[in-house]
Amino acid sequence: MALEYDVLVIGAGPAGCTAARYAADTGAHVLLAEKRQEIGTPVRCGEGISKRWLDEIGMEPSGRWIAHEVDGARIFSPDGSFFEVDEKLAGNECGFVIERDLFDRALAKRAISSGAELMVRTSATGLLHENGVVTGARLRSFGKTVDVRAKIVIGADGYESQVGRWAGIETSLKPKDVDSCFQYTLVGIEGDCGFNDFYLGSHAPGGYVWVFWKGRDIANVGIGVQLSRIREKGQARRLLDNFISKREELSRGRVIEQVSGAYSICAPIERTTTDGVMLVGDAARVTDPVTGGGIRNACILGKLAGQIAAEALEAGDASASFLAKYERFWRDRLEEALYRNWMVKEKLTTYTDEQFNKIISAISDYDWEKLSVLEILNAVKEKYPELQADVEAILGM
Ligand SMILES: Cc1cc2nc3c(=O)[nH]c(=O)nc-3n(C[C@H](O)[C@H](O)[C@H](O)COP(=O)(O)OP(=O)(O)OC[C@H]3O[C@@H](n4cnc5c(N)ncnc54)[C@H](O)[C@@H]3O)c2cc1C
Repeated sequence: MALEYDVLVIGAGPAGCTAARYAADTGAHVLLAEKRQEIGTPVRCGEGISKRWLDEIGMEPSGRWIAHEVDGARIFSPDGSFFEVDEKLAGNECGFVIERDLFDRALAKRAISSGAELMVRTSATGLLHENGVVTGARLRSFGKTVDVRAKIVIGADGYESQVGRWAGIETSLKPKDVDSCFQYTLVGIEGDCGFNDFYLGSHAPGGYVWVFWKGRDIANVGIGVQLSRIREKGQARRLLDNFISKREELSRGRVIEQVSGAYSICAPIERTTTDGVMLVGDAARVTDPVTGGGIRNACILGKLAGQIAAEALEAGDASASFLAKYERFWRDRLEEALYRNWMVKEKLTTYTDEQFNKIISAISDYDWEKLSVLEILNAVKEKYPELQADVEAILGM
């Protein structure tokens, strides 16, 4: 069986749904292929997002997929001191805690209303080539093989992406550039649900523990551990169990869901396009290297890729040199921040508990809402001159 489309999007997560929608908005004939049988499940996510980018992708905040709203983040040192950061300054994971399955479905519905076709339980198994150029992909759908010819293929197949590799784009990751994760959704817990909490230090070597509240007594409590520091199978889960067991307010909780997964924490990769192919979202390795948050960046790249795909169809040119416009646009928008956060991550992963304790207690004296980053830095320098370089690194300067 063979099908023909203008654009084939592989993977219907936030990146793929957004790419499909923006391409279909211009009248392009778009197929969105998803290997899972349901969009959005199982959820492998802390479900924290910031607020201000949603209008960029034309999504109104909606009670249908927002579980809870938080005022900001609290960053904890190993000895329990912490500082608060207002939601506006707190990065990609603070503002709303969402029902990720419903959010992904809302994005998929938008793509379908724009005219994209969706096939679930449909896996891409390889790319089709003609004269060395990608001309589509081979799909496996409900036990049948289907060749889909397309002028443009968008690889939106997430952290475990194969589309990049099939297209000859280098997306491989070193163990130090991956966080291995484990998460429980706990109910019947207590705490200040006005903040998303991040716990740094040896509880989570090279990563952090998060508590993202979904309501007054329910939260996603997870851990990310740098893969290069994992010594044995199940270590991330054991570290998380240990963390929870030491906190009465969490240890009385009941597990209603548990998931494992991974995200990349690498510097931006060199190339995300080739003739006829664009990579978006986790497949393009654009998760935030400090937090692992990637929903926002996935949607931003999805939008750009969908728009550039439409332009390429209009111009009748899907060559790598035309698609380089996509590469330029997303790098102008995000690359500097991704690099800066990667450098911060490189620094943070070297700190001992003692260093975290000192730095966080120094920062916690200042009110982030009232002071600029520069003022905080000057104030800390005055009190602890020897910490200047470390505080600069933490503040991403
Ligand atoms: C434990 C954990 C917690 C996280 N917490 C947060 C958080 O709180 N906030 C945040 O912003 N980010 C978080 N992230 C990261 C976030 O989940 C990702 O950045 C985001 O999902 C990226 O979207 P995407 O569309 O690129 O990829 P995905 O959401 O992974 O979507 C990829 C889709 O492609 C499909 N697919 C894969 N291969 C194929 C194939 N061959 N054929 C067809 N379909 C295929 C998959 O089934 C999937 O549906 C977390 C990640 C993990 C692992």
